[in-house]
Amino acid sequence: MSRRTKMTEDILKMMENPKQIRNLALIGHIDHGKTTLSDSLLAEAGLLAESLAGEARVLDYLEEEQRRGITIKSANISLYYEHSLEKSLPFLINLIDTPGHLDFSGKVTRALRMADGVIVIVDSVEEVSSQTETVVRQALDEAVRPILFINKIDRLFKELKLDMEEIKEKFSRIIQDFNKLIFMYGDELAKSNWMVSAELGSVIFGSALHRWGFVISDLKTKNHSLQYFENKYQDGTYKEISSLYPVWKSVLAAVVQFVPDPAQAQSYRTQTIWSGDIETEIGKAIQKCDPTGPLVIGMGKVQKIKNRLIGTGRIFSGTLKRGQHAWLVNDGSKTSVNQLSIFMGSRMETVIEIPAGNIAAIGGIKKISSGETIFDIKNIDEAKPFEAVKYVSEPVVTVA
Ligand code: GDP
Repeated sequence: MSRRTKMTEDILKMMENPKQIRNLALIGHIDHGKTTLSDSLLAEAGLLAESLAGEARVLDYLEEEQRRGITIKSANISLYYEHSLEKSLPFLINLIDTPGHLDFSGKVTRALRMADGVIVIVDSVEEVSSQTETVVRQALDEAVRPILFINKIDRLFKELKLDMEEIKEKFSRIIQDFNKLIFMYGDELAKSNWMVSAELGSVIFGSALHRWGFVISDLKTKNHSLQYFENKYQDGTYKEISSLYPVWKSVLAAVVQFVPDPAQAQSYRTQTIWSGDIETEIGKAIQKCDPTGPLVIGMGKVQKIKNRLIGTGRIFSGTLKRGQHAWLVNDGSKTSVNQLSIFMGSRMETVIEIPAGNIAAIGGIKKISSGETIFDIKNIDEAKPFEAVKYVSEPVVTVA
């Protein structure tokens, strides 16, 4: 079996167990470092399978992609992560693409609806801003759990030349301001369980540009303090930090710990994000993320990739099978799903079926539009959309 087939098989197996899946998005004020962080995660993705000695798994795909020059930022990315120390199951982390600029047309909301958790990036120089407030509020409105990433810490050492006390004060202020937003815009669940805490590890400190990041327990394990980082910048050896504190590891470890799996998340998110009655058969199937339930898909964005119209959607219930007949709720038309793929690394791999809790790339539906809801043809009566019909049609973006 080729490596590629083996990897597809491994991923398909993971997709059957929601406990191994995390659906994640990155958000933040423009320029606070979202693109740099997602680039760093992707660039290091090959290392995510470092425990599989001798097999350069995800990296194969990235190299191939780089050779072929396909843009990798335009669609979703799936990352593979194993705790290197714990003998736990590996994780499939779907990084859902969000609009690069602040957007009130519903595109951010739509992207966030596909995620169960977000990394909110805050520039440590600029601190929490009104744009941070907007994106945190958008996440909380969609019942998406936030994790805080305090970025550009290199600048505190190199440019601002702050002393340790000033840096610690800055961090406390950012964390406090961030938690105020959760308190202000969150529901009861968020207020009681989602406040971030440096001690508990839901705050990551780092430099996306220099590819390092840590949570407080990482410092304790290595017997380091903040002084270690300052010394590295002072003596010009800061490039060594990323091998000891790789940013991808700190981010993905926190994601696995704090972002709920899709089944957990749908148990409380359904009533917030879906317009139907949660007591119906479909409502219950969505809450359970039931792969044997009726098919329900919330579409994110639709793009033209290599001349094909591809929609990215989250399967909230049921199992989507290639060739399956389906109902486009907003458009009110019947269709069939003829092209079905998953994201591997950042490329698409054709598959036969995808169960609930996962993100699918769906092709070949002419009338598909961003934000559409797809239902099983058998359940038209209970077919309620995730978002209501909008009469202004959005242009389809061509990315490759
Ligand atoms: P986005 O608008 O949030 O996607 O921000 P970008 O990732 O494009 O970053 C904006 C600018 O900040 C770019 O010039 C980056 O190189 C820079 N930047 C991002 N992360 C860091 C960091 O950790 N340290 C420093 N010094 N600059 C960074």
